[in-house]
Amino acid sequence: MKTLVINIKQLVQVEKEPRTRVAGADMARLGMIDNAYLLVEDGYIQAFGKMSELDQHAVYEGGDTIQEIDATGRLVLPAFCDSHTHIVYAGSREIEYIDKIKGLSYEEIARRGGGILNSAERIRKASEEELYDSAFERLQEIAMLGTGAVEIKSGYGLSTESELKMLRVIKRLKEDTPLTIKSTFLGAHAVPTEYKGRQTEYVDLIINEMIPAVASEELADYIDVFCDKGFFTVEDTDRMLNAGMKHGLRAKIHANELDYSGGIQVGVKYNALSVDHLEYVGEKEIEALKGSETMPTVLPGAAFFLNMPYSPVREMINAGLPVALASDYNPGSSPSGNMKFVMSLGCVNYKMLPEEVINATTINSAYAMGVENELGSIAVGKKANFYITTPVSGIEFLPYAYGSNLIEAVFLNGEQI
Ligand SMILES: [Zn+2]
Repeated sequence: MKTLVINIKQLVQVEKEPRTRVAGADMARLGMIDNAYLLVEDGYIQAFGKMSELDQHAVYEGGDTIQEIDATGRLVLPAFCDSHTHIVYAGSREIEYIDKIKGLSYEEIARRGGGILNSAERIRKASEEELYDSAFERLQEIAMLGTGAVEIKSGYGLSTESELKMLRVIKRLKEDTPLTIKSTFLGAHAVPTEYKGRQTEYVDLIINEMIPAVASEELADYIDVFCDKGFFTVEDTDRMLNAGMKHGLRAKIHANELDYSGGIQVGVKYNALSVDHLEYVGEKEIEALKGSETMPTVLPGAAFFLNMPYSPVREMINAGLPVALASDYNPGSSPSGNMKFVMSLGCVNYKMLPEEVINATTINSAYAMGVENELGSIAVGKKANFYITTPVSGIEFLPYAYGSNLIEAVFLNGEQI
C-alpha cells in the first residue's frame, strides 16, 4: 500500500541525514521543502522532495494501489512526540480546579478529594478495564490533535498491585493503538498515605518489591522519580535510579519543579534520558546538563495551568543545550494533551521561535522518549507518522492561531486515522 501526498505547500522538518536531537542555535533551524511531495509505502517514508523531481510514472509502475492526496496550500509536518504524560488515570479533578480558583489551600484541597494521593485512591478502586477504556479515549483524542507517539507513566497506584495494574493497562494500549507508546514506572510519584512519616520504608518497597516485579514482567521501558522539595530526596532518587539501572530501566525523572532540588544533577549522574519540568534551573544545573546525553524537557501546560514560574528555556538554548517540550497530560496539573497548544505556550511564555517549538515537540521530544531513530522528522525509513494542516500561510501560523485546530488529517504508520 502506497500513499502519495502531492503539491504540499511546505514539507516541514525534513532530514536528509537524520539527527538524533538538535541543540542551541540549531534549534532555530528547520529543514523545509516548498512545493513538495511525500511518498509512503507500508507504513514507512519511502521518498520525499520537490514536486519537480517527482517521477509519477515510476511511483505508479507495478500497478500497486495508491492513495493520492492533493495537499495544495497545506503544510505537512511529522506527528508530535509527547514524551511526558500521565494519561492512565481514574476520574478528572475539576472540583479541585474550582477550589484553586476560590483560593483554597493545598491541605484543604487534599481533604476535599484533590492531589496525587486522591488520584491514587481512585486508581486503587478502578478496574483495569475502566482504566484501559478511559485512557484509550484520551489516546484517540490526542492522535486526532496530531500526536503520534506518547510516553505514559504509572504513579497513581503507589502500591505494588496498583502500579502493576497501571503498567499492564499501558502494555495493552501499546498493543492496541496505532500510537507508538513508551511506558515509565513512577512508583516514586508521592509517598502514599499509609507510609506517611516512613518515606525510607516506601523507597525500600519500591527497590525491593516494585522494581523487580515491574522488570520481571517487562512492563516498563523507563523509571521515573519525583525528585523535589516535599517529595523524594536526592539520596532516595540515587538509590532508586541505581536499582532501576540494575534492572535495565533508564531514568526519565521529574526534577526542579519546586526548587533547586539537585534532581537534574542526580539525573545526569545516571545518564537519564530526560529531566523534566525544570522551573528551577540556574548556572549549576545548566553546567551539569552541558555535554550530557540527558534531554532537558519543559512542560508548559503544567506551568500555565498552575501559574508556576517559567523554566529559563532561552538561557538553556543560549547555553547550547537542546530543549524538548511535552504536555504532562494529567488530571491535576495539566488536563490537556494538545501539543499544538503546547507550541503556542512555548512561543508566548518561553519566547521560543516557531522553528524552536517544532524541533522541541518532534525530534527532541522523540529523543526524550527514545524513539528518535524511528520518529520525530520526515526522513526516509522513518515511520510515516505525520499530519496535514488546513490551508495556512506558513509554520508561524500554527502556534499563532492558538485556539484553532488547523490539523486536517493525521497519518500514523502510513494510515489515516
Ligand atoms: Zn509529570
